[in-house]
Amino acid sequence: MNNHKIIPTREAGLERLKAFLPSAGKNYAAFRNYDLGQEKHFNVSMLSPYIRHRVLTETEVLKSVLQSHSQKSAEKFIQEIFWRTYWKGWLEMRPTVWAEYCSNLNKLYDQLQTQSGLRRSWEDACSGNTGIDCFDSWAKELFEIGYLHNHSRMWFASIWIHTLELPWELGADFFLRHLLDADPASNTLSWRWVGGAQTIGKTYMASAQNIQKFTKGRFYPRNLSRTPKMIQSSNNPDRLPISFDAVPDNPKNYAILLHWEDMDWSGLKDLLPNAKKIFCLVPNNEPKPLIASNLQQNFRKKLVDDSLMRWQKNFGSVKFIENLEALKSDAFDSIFTNYITVGHTRDFIQNFDWGSTKLIKIAHDYDRRTWPHATHGFFRFKDQIGNFLLALN
Ligand SMILES: Cc1cc2nc3c(=O)[nH]c(=O)nc-3n(C[C@H](O)[C@H](O)[C@H](O)COP(=O)(O)OP(=O)(O)OC[C@H]3O[C@@H](n4cnc5c(N)ncnc54)[C@H](O)[C@@H]3O)c2cc1C
Repeated sequence: MNNHKIIPTREAGLERLKAFLPSAGKNYAAFRNYDLGQEKHFNVSMLSPYIRHRVLTETEVLKSVLQSHSQKSAEKFIQEIFWRTYWKGWLEMRPTVWAEYCSNLNKLYDQLQTQSGLRRSWEDACSGNTGIDCFDSWAKELFEIGYLHNHSRMWFASIWIHTLELPWELGADFFLRHLLDADPASNTLSWRWVGGAQTIGKTYMASAQNIQKFTKGRFYPRNLSRTPKMIQSSNNPDRLPISFDAVPDNPKNYAILLHWEDMDWSGLKDLLPNAKKIFCLVPNNEPKPLIASNLQQNFRKKLVDDSLMRWQKNFGSVKFIENLEALKSDAFDSIFTNYITVGHTRDFIQNFDWGSTKLIKIAHDYDRRTWPHATHGFFRFKDQIGNFLLALN
């Protein structure tokens, strides 16, 4: 398989998983931190764009790994999957962190209009023209293929915040517009972690020695800051309970709303035969404040097409919508959809006036079981992994 090309189909995701499985054990544990360069990410799975959109589910990836390895030998890989789960649960219970990020970002975009120095530094960083060769190379890689190795994401964010002294929200936004796996939880919370807002007072500082070691000598950046530039943000908010909707018995006069955020539509299957209509919300490319890269937009659109093709025999005809007005036309009693996690799509759906129609969001068992455990740090959450694995179905 052409390792670096991320093809927007489930079949390609499954092929990638199959090819990666033999390496998911000790090999991954030993080599996962090395970034050998674009087109050479053989030591990590590159499954995130599929998992992010639930074209592959965490459950099926974990089960496949456990069929090839013991839990112990695949411990590191399994933990990484649960890092994703942890971030999702953490943000679900603290949605104001996302709201604060969006509000700060809007203010920063205003400042970019009036502060030419800030604008120039931001443009140089986004276009890979800072003169810091590793950073510039990662900016270009992100731009070209929509993927970066985890270690390079950490170094990139660290240089952005601590050396270039740019606002972290602009960096998180740059990632969110370009990554094929762009995810409001993993992205926002990882950037906050690098800047010292997630684990309060603990920043991540990239060092030349570490970069040299884990890029196998490709880079040795001089003049990286050693002084943390702690990001300003409110304290971590108290957590709120996650509200999981119950499915009513014998619902009538309802429609189904499919969306691209979570394309594992299996939880809606039993509702399909009696649905009056089926809608599919396609990615909305309105500026937020800037639009996503063409690469990301096309990737998502093609994933939706691929998912609909696979599900076609269950669905019959599907009406594509970019806004929600069409859902009002038939005065449905309720609309069923997959649970929508914190992020732009959730904001868009929550801000809509639903009138008397009830939106019922169906969460997967995996999410119901795991997210409420993201109460404190990852290390406490990690203690539950054995139980989570036992409950996979
Ligand atoms: C600043 C920054 C921003 C990030 N933004 C995103 C993002 O928008 N979307 C995203 O999916 N991940 C994000 N990550 C996490 C991580 O970098 C990617 O998930 C990982 O690099 C994806 O590559 P992979 O599939 O080859 O990972 P592998 O190493 O093969 O890991 C397997 C899977 O585990 C999950 N995973 C691995 N590492 C992490 C992690 N640190 N946090 C959460 N999940 C993880 C992913 O689903 C991944 O596909 C970010 C990390 C940092 C430091």
